[in-house]
Amino acid sequence: MKKLIISAAITGGLGRKADNPNIPEQPEEQIEAILEVWKAGAAIVHIHARDAEGKSTQDPKIYERIKSSVRQRGCDIILNFTTGGGIGMTLEEKLRSLEASPEMASLNMGMMNYPLPNGDYYLAAHSPKEIIWYATEMKNKGIKPEIEVYNPVMMKEVRMLIEKGLIDKPYFIQFVMGMPAQNTMEASIKNLAILVDELPHDSLFSVCAVGRHQLPMTTLSMLYGGMVRVGLEDNLYYAKGELAASNHQLVARTVRIATELQRPIATPSEAREILGLSGAI
Ligand code: ZN
Repeated sequence: MKKLIISAAITGGLGRKADNPNIPEQPEEQIEAILEVWKAGAAIVHIHARDAEGKSTQDPKIYERIKSSVRQRGCDIILNFTTGGGIGMTLEEKLRSLEASPEMASLNMGMMNYPLPNGDYYLAAHSPKEIIWYATEMKNKGIKPEIEVYNPVMMKEVRMLIEKGLIDKPYFIQFVMGMPAQNTMEASIKNLAILVDELPHDSLFSVCAVGRHQLPMTTLSMLYGGMVRVGLEDNLYYAKGELAASNHQLVARTVRIATELQRPIATPSEAREILGLSGAI
C-alpha cells in the first residue's frame, strides 16, 4: 500500500459559523487552520475562500493571499482550490480560483441537486461540455484535478477525460459519499466496493463522506489502500452531539487511526511524488 495522503477540507461552500463556530471563514482564520492541519499530518488542503461576510467567493485575490501567507510561513502543504464554489455562482465565476495557480483543484464529474433549507433545490450542473472546459483550463495551467465522483455513473466522464487526454496519470479520484443531494451515493461498504471496482487503471482514490459517515468511511478507505479526506467541509462533528473543535482535531484522529493500522502518513513532498506533481509551489 502507498503511504496515506490526508486531505483536509477546512471550510467548504455551505457550512457557516452558526453551524459550527470553529469553521475558518476569514483568510486569517483559514491560514491558521492550514498551518494546523499541516502540522497535524495533512498533505493536501482543500479550500473554499469566503468574503468579508463569510459567504463563498472565488475571488482569486483572496486565494492568492492565503497561498502567499502559508508559503511565507514555511508551509509546503499542497494547495487544492475548489472549482465547485458556492451556491448561485456562474461557471465562469467558479473557475476564477484557478487564477491563483494552485497545484490542484477540484473537478466535479456531473450534476447534483442540493436541497436548500427553504425546500428548493440548487442544481449544480456539470455537463460533459463544461467538464471538458474545466479540465482543459486545468491542463493548460498545469493544475492537477482532484476528480470528484459521487456515483459510479460519473466514471463515464472520467473515462471521457482520459480518452481526450485531458487528465494525467495517476488519476486522483475523490469518492464523495453520503451527500444529501440527488444523484449521490449512500455511504456504505457495498457502495465503496462498487466505486473502487469501477476505477480506471492508473487511478488513486480517496474517500470523503458527510457527517457521521466521515469516520467509518475514511477508516475503510485506509484499509482498502485508498486515501482520505477529513475536515469541517464534510463533517461538523467530532462525535455524536459533540461539535469538532477544529479541523486539525479531525486530522489528528485520522493520523492516530492510520498509525494503529500501520499505514504511514505521506508528507506533502511524498504526496507530490505519489500524485505526479511537479513540485513547483
Ligand atoms: Zn469543497
